[in-house]
Amino acid sequence: MPELPEVEFARSCLSRWLGGKTLRAVEADPTRVIRGAAPKAFAALARDRVAKVERRGKWLLWRLASDKGLLAHLGMTGKFELTKPGAPAVRWSRVRFVRSDGAVVHYRDPRQFGHIRLAPFSELLTTEPLKSLGPDAKDQLPTAKALEARLHKSRRQVKEVLMDQTVVAGLGNIQVTEALFLARIHPARRAESLTPSEVVRIRQGIVKSLARTLAMNKGDKITYVEESKRVENPFLVYGKANSPCPRCGTPLKKMVIGGRTSAFCPRCQPRTPGPAAAGRPRRRK
Ligand SMILES: [Zn+2]
Repeated sequence: MPELPEVEFARSCLSRWLGGKTLRAVEADPTRVIRGAAPKAFAALARDRVAKVERRGKWLLWRLASDKGLLAHLGMTGKFELTKPGAPAVRWSRVRFVRSDGAVVHYRDPRQFGHIRLAPFSELLTTEPLKSLGPDAKDQLPTAKALEARLHKSRRQVKEVLMDQTVVAGLGNIQVTEALFLARIHPARRAESLTPSEVVRIRQGIVKSLARTLAMNKGDKITYVEESKRVENPFLVYGKANSPCPRCGTPLKKMVIGGRTSAFCPRCQPRTPGPAAAGRPRRRK
């Protein structure tokens, strides 16, 4: 499922394919992706120009040269794909942006959990979901102190709090599972119980996990890890319960938090913080 790194990949593709370009036509099929909006409203974007494509957390925000904007969420299986002029139809294509050279950018989404909303740009900025979105986990990641303040406001489990888009935007099950493993923090720890040094580790874990995933996504095509059994799971612990921990070899465990499965190492990420969780042994008397 797309999280910040996959959406960032989509943003960079869209910027390359459509940034500064005039749209010859926009065709939206009447599917769940446009949530009852009129395909005609999308068709009216013909001759408009894509000024900029930005990312806000897991959302793609298109600014058009007119006062219009598009807000897109990839849901579970959504992707943008470019086809050359005259290419055959694309399966599961739901919305098509035709360039003046005839190339087409398809929004392709087999399961249709994704969403594209068309509205005045200023309205997209001031209404949900962007209105309540927390700072971006990549471009505006809070300092450790500020992150601590955000985490301490919650009695929920740290895994759930980090997945809350109003706390930090862009992280989902994969990134939080990986970041907590890197930070050696049990996913079920109460957010309010985290010490300053643990929050520092969580912050570092987020930075490292995002950088690692961003570096994996190259080129013009992307495959999500759940999409195909032929794609090897590239993550450290996500989706790897029962496999050996890449750090200590202990079999990874899983538990469900906030409706999502979390893999973790029971040895590296103990529920009760002790010497093992402190990272380095204490040297002071
Ligand atoms: Zn381990």
